[in-house]
Parts: sequence; structure tokens; C-alpha cells
Amino acid sequence: MFWWLGISAKEFVDFLVSIAEKWQKEWEKAKIFEANPDKNRKKFFTTVAFPYPNSPFHLGHGRTYVTCDIYARYMRMKGYNVLFPMGFHYTGTPIIAMADDVAKGDKELIDIFKNIYEIPDNVISKLADPLFMANYFKDEIKKAMKEIGLSIDWRREFTTIDPEFSSFIVWQFSKLQEKGFIVRDTHPVGWCPVHHIPVGMHDTKGDMEPEIGEFVLIYFTTDLGILPAATLRPETVFGAVAVWVNPDVTYSIIEIDGKKMIVSERSAFKLTFQIDNIKNIGNIKGSELTKYKAINPITGKEIPILPADFVDPNVATGVVMSVPAHAPFDYFYLKKIKQDIPIVSVIQVEGQGDTLARDFVEKNNPKNKDDLQKLTEQVYRIEYNRGKMKDVSQLVKPDYVVFFKSFTGLSVPEARQKITEFLINNGLGRKIFEIMNRPVYCRCGNEVVVKILKDQWFLDYGNPEWKALAKKLIANMKFIPPEVRKDFEFVADWLQKRACARTRGLGTPLPWDKKWIIESLSDSTIYMAYYTIAHKIKQYQLRPSQLTYDFWNYVMLGIGNIDEISSKTGISKEIIKEIRDEFLYWYPLDIRHSGKDLIPNHLSFFIFNHAAIFPEELWPKAIAVNGFVLYEGKKMSKSLRNIIPLRKALRIYSPDVVRITLTSTADMGSDVNFSDSYAKSVGEILRKYYEFIKDLPKYNGEGTDFADRWLRAQVNRMVLESTKYMDNIDFRSTVNDILYNFDSYLKEYMEMCKAEGKEPNGKLMRDIIEIWIKLLAPFAPHFAEEIWHELGHNTYISLEKWPTAEESSEDLYFILIHEYHKRIIEDASKIINYYFKNTPKVVKIYVAEEELMKVLKDAVQILSSGGTLKQLMEKEKPSDKRMANLYKKIYELAVELDDTMKKLILGYDVNELEVLKQGAKYISYKLNVPVEVHNISELDRSKYNKEALPMKPAIIVE
Ligand SMILES: [Zn+2]
Repeated sequence: MFWWLGISAKEFVDFLVSIAEKWQKEWEKAKIFEANPDKNRKKFFTTVAFPYPNSPFHLGHGRTYVTCDIYARYMRMKGYNVLFPMGFHYTGTPIIAMADDVAKGDKELIDIFKNIYEIPDNVISKLADPLFMANYFKDEIKKAMKEIGLSIDWRREFTTIDPEFSSFIVWQFSKLQEKGFIVRDTHPVGWCPVHHIPVGMHDTKGDMEPEIGEFVLIYFTTDLGILPAATLRPETVFGAVAVWVNPDVTYSIIEIDGKKMIVSERSAFKLTFQIDNIKNIGNIKGSELTKYKAINPITGKEIPILPADFVDPNVATGVVMSVPAHAPFDYFYLKKIKQDIPIVSVIQVEGQGDTLARDFVEKNNPKNKDDLQKLTEQVYRIEYNRGKMKDVSQLVKPDYVVFFKSFTGLSVPEARQKITEFLINNGLGRKIFEIMNRPVYCRCGNEVVVKILKDQWFLDYGNPEWKALAKKLIANMKFIPPEVRKDFEFVADWLQKRACARTRGLGTPLPWDKKWIIESLSDSTIYMAYYTIAHKIKQYQLRPSQLTYDFWNYVMLGIGNIDEISSKTGISKEIIKEIRDEFLYWYPLDIRHSGKDLIPNHLSFFIFNHAAIFPEELWPKAIAVNGFVLYEGKKMSKSLRNIIPLRKALRIYSPDVVRITLTSTADMGSDVNFSDSYAKSVGEILRKYYEFIKDLPKYNGEGTDFADRWLRAQVNRMVLESTKYMDNIDFRSTVNDILYNFDSYLKEYMEMCKAEGKEPNGKLMRDIIEIWIKLLAPFAPHFAEEIWHELGHNTYISLEKWPTAEESSEDLYFILIHEYHKRIIEDASKIINYYFKNTPKVVKIYVAEEELMKVLKDAVQILSSGGTLKQLMEKEKPSDKRMANLYKKIYELAVELDDTMKKLILGYDVNELEVLKQGAKYISYKLNVPVEVHNISELDRSKYNKEALPMKPAIIVE
């Protein structure tokens, strides 16, 4: 190859690291990312989540931030006035729980801080103080953000505990309350039983949103008290032939509203968060319970209480009913303990019979709990969607017969609702809440339970008026990738009341009830608006006391009298107006970047709160979500100890290589796999380009030969296509084109020059490298800046214009012709490889008669409009049988032609002989055999019986 391999890979990475430092300093000095309003330029405002500074960044954090930066840099080069700001989220449990863990001496965490993040011992001990922790990691993260080359306007930085920012949050919550979107209510929430705080996604280990669902309890009576069997399928109670308890578990006897009930110990604890005045009376072992009998409250029948180890005492009450006709677990275990119990079916599914559970177990022969779980889900789905209630009236107590007559023929969802109401109204059951995706753990390590929170402040995302506004915003919003739109619509539908305050953690107190702190997913919904003016508050040294409700009302919404506000706050009219104007210049937000895990909470709250507070013209315009980052194919986790600190990765691979690797190896919505080998290969290809560019002065050729035209055409095409890709944030396709395809174009061009015996065109090479380096600049900004200056420029490539190109049919012609040459090379090599051991003497190419090209064109056209051979024959009217046969072959050729060749034939009048003569030297060079091009009429028919079709010449190798 022509690459000059002058320096080692390691030396090159060191070089990349050093130029990154150099250009970051230069950019900062020249303030090129400080964005100010400019009426003459279109603005573009982009944000990405401000981080919780509770640990340093690792590789996984990098992706979303770099994605935002690449797009920001692209838009800047497209001529937009781009604002990309950053702040830090100090609020709530993410910080305080981590500081608590340090204080408690959590071994695993301290080990990670010490040995993976290499934090000095004297610092680790201080991290027990939440504020110290937040400040320390804020500085650490900020360094990482600078070192990876994010083009941030740092003048606007703030933290969520700055009193100035708090005044903004106070205004936001006052607005929400005015509109009736904050309510005091009683509502189930995820709850940490130790810290006594509501728990949302960002308060849990592994960021799991606790999903709250309902179980129906059915009161089976025994001599000891009630056994409240918990079920999601109360409509099957008619078929309950036993009650299951876990024999190895201790059950508590408790009293609820004067009723004695027997539930697992864990359940007794959890129910105290949902039901008041529970009295604990005593304990009983599960195995003891099985000595008693139970009465089914609906059928009145006496049934056994049976032992089952599959009953999980941590789910609901730890007591379940056994319905072998409709529950695979129940059938399987009943059969296992050989209980000869009749199967009572209550649901009929057309075409599937009426004992689905038994049939599925018998047919599939499940081996373990997982198999049974799968069957349970299948039976559940089929019966839920297609099941009809059978006549259950002969199964029930005489008193209930009349009522349950009406059940016959009901769908399962209808029956479920009716039986639930019946049970509750007749004191035969009740509902309880449970965490459906349990176990979910609070950051402190305790399992999250459901609490019915009384008189708590909720953001009422279930308010229909508010939902309608949010849905309208979603309808007008652009989503990348587009398929996530339905996820947002889904969330907007199910989102309900959400507790918005906590009793612990840093943050802003609720303005009207100051013992509550606004929690972290509630004070981070419209903070993007604050960035637009954060630097002005600093610049004019406005005090928090001046930033009143009226001040914010005017700045954000234009409400109020500026004279009055000025006199009350003591802020001059000019300054208030300047701040208002700057907000209006930047808002609405043009795009929000985020990880896909934030769709069900943060991003949806962002939508709801913007819809609530701002007028429609200030609603955000787009959301881009990306997948996660794997390291060597695995999720990074504390337990795998495979966490790679971002700053360390930047030293090992260099910032530009990390940027490319994090953003271009997968589609936006998919997970990226960061592998050492791929990152190194990115470094290697950058090195090749660098060496190539160093060699540019060596090329002195001129002219516009076929090769030159072709290379220019490929670069034009690359500009057009990467622009399209970039507009859709399709970084994978862009990088594929500019890093890998471009490399092969250069290689091919060099070969074409060599074949023609010409010098590569120096000016052309320099021109296209200048275009190319601009295309690469958003991805590898430091490398691009370095090359740009080495090419003799003294401007910043970060501020250069993104290249443009015109769609050109002439360009396409050169690209297609070269493709045609490559196909001839392929065909000839096949023949050579198959028939020749040694290098052949000559390759002779015989081109078909010129007039046949028209027939091929007709055939392609007829085929593309759905026609057949018949139409072709009618059109061409062959003069004899030989011609008819030939046309048939052309038709068959047309059927097999690929799209590239079809484009060539349909778009251009191809003179095949000319075209082949043009490519002969290149073909010969690639085959390493002399090549002759002839007309088919010159073929010696006495020696060869070969036919030439248009675009499919006869190839004879001697
Ligand atoms: Zn906790």
C-alpha cells in the first residue's frame, strides 16, 4: 500500500491526546463556543441531561453527551448559532444515598472509587459529606466533558442548589399549582421502608422504575381466621379447589378492621404501609396451616389447605388459591402431590376447550418454574383475550345463584371487574397494591414497598386537561429514531399522579409547604429555559431575593408590567428586557438528547411540564434518544468490575477515537459495543489518513482524466449523502462513508492513476481532503482542527461551513461507469481463476452490436413498469428466429441486472465500446494481464462460438 507507516500506533495516540489538549485550550481562549444572540443568524439550542455528580463519568456516560456534541458541531457548521450549555443536578437521593454509602463504609463502592476511579484515600473519606461529594465529582465530570471535546458554553453552568436556580423552581411550582396540576392527595407510591421517602427510578439501584399494580384478595375462611388468597384472576374463584401456603414460611396472624387474617410475615410488614391500625396477634408456621380446611367464600365448599414451595411469601399475602383448570402452576403441583381433586372449569375458549392449564401442561411437559411461568402467561393471554365465562351459577352458594346467572358468556375482563366489585361489596375480599416488577431496591439497599401516601403533594400527570396538552406537544414533536414516538404516546396515556417532594436530600423546598424538598425528577423538567439566561444573572450579579415570581413570570412568559417589576425588584428595565430577549432568542429548545431509559420518566415529565407552563410556540421541537454502551459485549456493572472511567479511556485511546467508537458502531436506538480492538482500529485508520495527508505535497499531477472525474464525483456523492445522514442523526452511516468508503476511494484512485501511468492530481487531492476533513470534524474535532491548520488555514474548522454539493447526473455517470468496469474485472477474474494456472497472455473483450443497447434499455423499462417478454417482442418485432432468440436472452439479462447497472442503462446512452476502451488500462492493471477491446464482429467465429450481449461482452482469455 501507499501508506507511509512512519510512527507507531502508541505514538500516534499520544499525538492525538496532545493535539486534543492543544485545541481545547485554543477554543477556550478564543471563546468560540460561547453563544450570544445574533438576530442575523438562525439559532439552534440543544441540551443533554445535566448529570448527577455522584461518581465520575465512565465510558457508558459518554455516548449521549458526545451524540449531542456531534450534532451541535454539525449544526454550527451548517451556519446555525448553536447553544450547548451544561449544569449539574445536585438534587435528591442520587447524591445523598451515595454519600450515605460512603459514610457506612460500603466496601464495594469504596473499592470502586479507590481502585477503578483511582480517587485518593484522603478524598474518599470526605465523600461522606453529600455537598463535598457533589462538588468534587462535578469538577471531575467537567474535566471529562472538556477532555472529550464537548463544545459547551460554560458561562451558563449552574447547580440545582444555587439559590438563583431555586427561585426559578419556586416559580415553576407556583405556576403548576395555580393551574391545578399539583394536588394534595392520597395515592400509592413506591416507598423506601427505612428512609420513609417515596422512591422513583432515580432513587433505586439499577434505575428501576417501581411499577405499582393491584392484587385482589379473596377471603377464604378457616377456624383460625381468614386466609386472604391474593390473585390477579379473581374470575376463576369458582374453580378454586384448594388454597396453597408455603409450609416453610412463618405466617403472621393479624387483625384488620376487626377481622383476623393470616398472611406471610413479610406481607404483614408491607401491609402496614397500605392499611392503618393493623394489629399483630401471633405467628403460625405454614406447615401447621395445612392441618386446617378452608371455605371458598363464593362456592361455600370446604377445600384443603395444601403445602407448596412455589408460593413466594414476598409476593402479596403469601397465600394463593389453586385453580387447576386455569393455572398451570396449580395443575402441575396438584398432580405432583397426587391429590385426586376434580378440575372445575369456569372459562371456555372457542376452539381451545375449557381446561387450558391442564392441556398446556400435559402437552408441553414443563420442567421447571420458568417453563411454568411461560405457560401461565400464554394461558392468561388467551383466556383474557378470547375466553368466555361458562355457566357458574350451579357452582355457587344458593344465595348467589341469581346474581351469577348473569355471568354466563361474559368476557374475562368483564367478569373480572364484576366479581371484584361483588367481593368487595359483600365483605368477601379487598384490593392491595404490590410492586409488580419486584424486587426493586432503594439506593440504600432496602426493598421498595408500596405505600399509600396520605396528604402528599403530587404532580397530577393523570389530569385529563394536562394529558391532552402533553399529547398535543408529542404530536408536534420530532423523534429520533422515529419509532420511539409510540413509546412516548404510551407513557402519556398511563402516567398518573407522581409524588413530587421528599423529606431528605438537597434541593428546593416546596414553596407552600417548606418541610418538603422538590425531588430530582420534578426539578429537572424545564431547567433548559434557565440556561438561556443563567450567565446574565451572574453577569449582573442579581441576588436571589430579586428573582421573584413576577420577575420570572415576565422573563419566561412576558406577563406583568416591566416598570412595576423593575421598581419592586430593583433590577433595571434594560436588564430585565435584555434577559427576556435572550430567553426569547433561544427558546424553544430545538432538541433534547437522552438515553432511552429516560423515556418513561424524565423525558415524559419534560414534555408534560413544558406543555403546562409555556405557550405552544415555546414547546420543545425534538427528542433524540440513544441506546446504551456495552464494554466488550457486556453491560458495565459494579459486580463485573468492568467499569472503564471515561477520563482513563480518553488517555488510552484519545478523545477523537472514543468519540467515534461511542457513536458510530450502532444505530441510535441500539446499544453500542465499545471494544478495545475496534477502538484501536479507529486509531489506526486515523493514523493512515494522517500519513496520507503528510504525503500530499508529493503529488503533482494535473488534468481531469476519468480517474480525477470519478474521484471528484465520489466525494460529491459523499457530501450529499453524509449531509442526509447527519440530518437524521445517523452517525453510523456517516462514519461508514467518510472513514471507510473514502479510504477505499483513495486507494482505487491511486490504482487508476497507476494504471493510466499518471501522477495523482495534487490540487484535486488537496481539495477533496479539505472537504473530507470538514465532514469528519464533528466526530473528530481535534484531529480535524490539527489537519486544517496543517493544510495552511488559520481559521477554526469548528466554525467552517459544512461542505455542499450539487446533485449531478454527470457525477453519477462516472461512478456508474467505474462500477461497470469493476464488474468486467470480476467476470474476467472468474474465468482466469477457473481455467488458468499461470498468468494468461491476453484478455480480449468483445462488445455487442451497438443497436442492441436500445433493446436492453427497452427491456429494463418494460420490466420496471411490470411488463413481460411479450411486450418486449411486440415492441422490437424481431426479424427472424435468431433475433427473437437474442432478444429473449437480452430480456433474461435485464431480469438479472442489479440496480446500479439499471441506473446506468436507463439514465444514459452508453457507448459500451468507448466505455470499455476508457477502462481498459485499469481493467488490465487489476487483472495483471494485457487487455484488448473489440467489436463482436471482429470475433473469429471459426475459433470461438461466443455471444456478446449489451453490458455483458464476450470475454476471451488466451
Ligand atoms: Zn432507602
